[in-house]
Amino acid sequence: MIARSAGERPARPWVASPDVTASGPPRLLVASRVVPGPHEPALAPGAVVVDADVITAVGPPEVLAHRYPHAERVDLLGATLVPGLVNAHVHLAFEPERDPVAPPADRPTADLAAAVARNARRLLDEGVTTARDLGDRDGVVAAWRTSGALGPRVLTAGAPITTPGGHCWFLGGEVYGPGDLRQAVAERAAAGVDWIKVMAGGGMLTPTSPRPWETQFSDDALAVVVDAAREAGLPVAAHAHGTATMAACARAGVDTIEHGGWLSGPGASPGAAPATDPRPEVADAIAAAGAVLVPTRARGWRSWPPEGDLDGLLARLAWNASRGIRMVVGTDAGAGPGVFDDVVDTLTLYRAAGWSDAAVLAMATTEAAAVLGLGDRVGRLAPGYAADLLAVDGDPTRDVEALRRLRLVVAAGRDHVPT
Ligand SMILES: [Zn+2]
Repeated sequence: MIARSAGERPARPWVASPDVTASGPPRLLVASRVVPGPHEPALAPGAVVVDADVITAVGPPEVLAHRYPHAERVDLLGATLVPGLVNAHVHLAFEPERDPVAPPADRPTADLAAAVARNARRLLDEGVTTARDLGDRDGVVAAWRTSGALGPRVLTAGAPITTPGGHCWFLGGEVYGPGDLRQAVAERAAAGVDWIKVMAGGGMLTPTSPRPWETQFSDDALAVVVDAAREAGLPVAAHAHGTATMAACARAGVDTIEHGGWLSGPGASPGAAPATDPRPEVADAIAAAGAVLVPTRARGWRSWPPEGDLDGLLARLAWNASRGIRMVVGTDAGAGPGVFDDVVDTLTLYRAAGWSDAAVLAMATTEAAAVLGLGDRVGRLAPGYAADLLAVDGDPTRDVEALRRLRLVVAAGRDHVPT
């Protein structure tokens, strides 16, 4: 890991590798339709000028062809250009093919690094050009980022801060006493993380941790983590499945609440989904604090957990929104049922819960980028924004499943043909 003096903040990662950018003359991408943002009027036909890793113009093809006579023209007729997708919760070092409850405790660092590289490619294959990694080990995500490999822009949190034997202790983030919390944040800041991740509650992956609906850290401890992160200029993401933990996160002032399933106790029978208790006063506190929820449902949300409560899940998501809680898309790819090749299935969850296709697309582009602190350069097709875009057959603002028909992915100006 790169040594850095305390207090010196690294620049936010702009491309997967700052050393490798797209080269060559500007390109004029011409498509049948350009959607600058999910709630912005489309251009039909439309064009986007890409110069290295930045978009320099969006407009009618003939106007831009005249203005940029030396640009290399790329015809994507029949396709729609949309912003690249943002996945706000992934674990690149995890492998969804492996037993989800067999943690990467004893695996060599090189294995984890190989998984990161592989999973980063998979994210591009599904059109994800920006992702926030919320837990790895040994700094493998930060190391990958400097490798120059083609992949999405990735924000990293390093090892999540947890209690001894607590949720995901095997990632190396155990803190043994309240006096060590401030140091834990400082170490991560010095290592160049973009977010601080704290396991505020127990989790499903870790049999030794408190139960998923139980809280791991006291209010005082969470307050120290948030305060230390603020001092270091870093936002805080908190893992919280339970209603009590979500309430604690709102009190502490975290920036995002991960999972947020309103769990309150065990299910009625073995194999059944845990009991839930969505409390209006907690929802109002979350909304008032401006904490954003990342529900992290993955592919297979219709049938997971096996004896789940699908109608209840959909109703709770809609209820969150009705209480003013902002939500963005994250899949927890790598953990549990989370995979790296079907973010579109997660998008259909929100549609099933009542969102329009355009609103769902916003949750995975403009809104997610804003929550990740990248709203001024990621999530839209506009001059000055990153050259992160997708060419798809169909119009995702009317049917998000059109995103399955990817023709081309451009990530920081570099082309990737999905496989
Ligand atoms: Zn996670």
